[in-house]
Amino acid sequence: MAESKRDYYEVLGVSKTATEDELKKAYRALAKKYHPDMNPGDKEAEVKFKEASEAYAVLSDPDKRRQYDQFGHAAFDGGAGGGAGGFDFSGMDMGDIFGDLFGDLFGGGGRSRRPNNGPMKGANIRTSVRITFEEACFGTEKELELTLKDECSTCHGTGAKPGTTPETCQKCGGKGQVVYTQQSLFGMVRNVQTCPDCHGSGKYVKEKCSGCYGTGYVSSKKKIKVSIPAGIDNGQSVRIRDKGEPGVNGGPRGDLLVEVVVSRHPIFQRADMDIYSTAPITFTQAALGGDVRISTVDGDVLYTVKPGTQTDTKVRLRGKGVPSLRNKAVRGDHYVTLVVQVPSKLTNEQRERLEAFERAMNGNADVSGASLDKQNKEKGASGEAGNSGHKKKGLKEKLNDLFE
Ligand SMILES: [Zn+2]
Ligand SMILES: [Zn+2]
Repeated sequence: MAESKRDYYEVLGVSKTATEDELKKAYRALAKKYHPDMNPGDKEAEVKFKEASEAYAVLSDPDKRRQYDQFGHAAFDGGAGGGAGGFDFSGMDMGDIFGDLFGDLFGGGGRSRRPNNGPMKGANIRTSVRITFEEACFGTEKELELTLKDECSTCHGTGAKPGTTPETCQKCGGKGQVVYTQQSLFGMVRNVQTCPDCHGSGKYVKEKCSGCYGTGYVSSKKKIKVSIPAGIDNGQSVRIRDKGEPGVNGGPRGDLLVEVVVSRHPIFQRADMDIYSTAPITFTQAALGGDVRISTVDGDVLYTVKPGTQTDTKVRLRGKGVPSLRNKAVRGDHYVTLVVQVPSKLTNEQRERLEAFERAMNGNADVSGASLDKQNKEKGASGEAGNSGHKKKGLKEKLNDLFE
């Protein structure tokens, strides 16, 4: 078994005289390449990652490296010459290694290294606020009522009865953290967690403060103004600094994150900075052209429809969209789809005039009612053919149609 194992220096691709920095650099490169998070489901990468991690764990520890240099893998092979016992990872703190190595690689989420029992930023609080479509476009200010914790004025946050002081937490010995040993991908690993008894403060309160029941905090309702910027979209959050949970051991407060929920609008739909809607036009407006009133977030605008406008014609109203969140002077566009309305009821006079119109279109004044119906159908069919003819237009013409 020991023979089949690759040499640790070979695994990391470094010389026997490699310095600590060279080892770290080599391991960092390999870990980046083979980390399971970067290679989901890739067994070979997992094996390589494990191999590199093991090599680094041994060579980065001066004692283990000396043993390895002297006895090779046998040093950790239980019963062999070195007598150091079987190698496992229980002696090393993977959290520390990864905190060290991957702090920058994986964004350091939650891995910020801090002295045990030191000041710790309070947790963030999340809440949500509902606003209208127009408020999202142009920004608004909302007042939220939230229950927030504050340091207890009786005990000044210690949680201990005035005159007494908190004692050191027995569970963690005042460190605020406890270490669990766990079986994992790498063998036995140590896992560092916030102490469940003292929640990281490292202190235990024997005689509790009556003002806060030993928590060190009092809760009260607070009114908080939230300024919501123009251009915000559904699901985005506004961060308000220092309105979260109080910090521990003198650390700063967490933040308040207010998620914005935008109500649906009866006419407008939004995609990023652009707004979409449909607007009805009468069929005489479509045929003859004319001004139609179109609703926008800036109020109604008059739009001049060209004679012969087809249904589903798309019109762009430049700069009538949603402002950019970064610069509210920059706005998206509003796309309007014109939908031609066909009247469902006609007066006798209207019907006669339309029939006369139809006859004029066919260049035939003597059409009977029955054949008129038939021709109407044919007209419908040729109308569709007209549409497909429309599709054959050049790209430029089509774009002109779309964005007139
Ligand atoms: Zn108190
Ligand atoms: Zn504790």
